[in-house]
Amino acid sequence: MYGEAVGRLITELKRLPGIGQRTAERLAFHLVQAPREEGLALAAAIRDVKENVRPCRRCFNVTEQDPCRICADPARDHGLLCVVERPQDVLALEKVGGFRGLYHVLLGAVSLLEGVGPDDLTLRPLLDRVRQGGVRELILATNPTFDGDATALHLRAALEPLGIKVTRLARGLPSGSSLELASKANLAEALEGRQAY
Ligand SMILES: [Zn+2]
Repeated sequence: MYGEAVGRLITELKRLPGIGQRTAERLAFHLVQAPREEGLALAAAIRDVKENVRPCRRCFNVTEQDPCRICADPARDHGLLCVVERPQDVLALEKVGGFRGLYHVLLGAVSLLEGVGPDDLTLRPLLDRVRQGGVRELILATNPTFDGDATALHLRAALEPLGIKVTRLARGLPSGSSLELASKANLAEALEGRQAY
């Protein structure tokens, strides 16, 4: 039907989230017909990301410099840690503005269904960060979902022996949603109205 190269492109595109066979075919044929520079620019952008972007060794957010710009910023409040599931959540909170603390990215959520346990997340490095001292308050900003709630419970249990102030985002975000999809106003309110957890 089509050559081996096009078939390979379709196979690779299908690995992306939300891309099925038909969308993969549509994108592949678009790229086949697109100007050479356009296709090569996409390939170069993907290569650049894979070669130069890595997790920050402190907060596990994606970064091109280690530690990341946020962790390295002396003007931010290093005693306030906001714990989120994914790098996209950091992006969402940074877009809201106003939060001047640091982050810790768990790189996922506890999920019985998907077989993800606390040890699959960056929980241990988080506990190490807290044990090193200097952290006053830890804000649990996992998503308002079943898995996000389960993750928050795990974190609270793990943090309890360390005697640190733990808060959780206020219940203003729509249940089953994510930080990424919340409006800026809702997110700012949830952060402002955070409560002891
Ligand atoms: Zn960082």
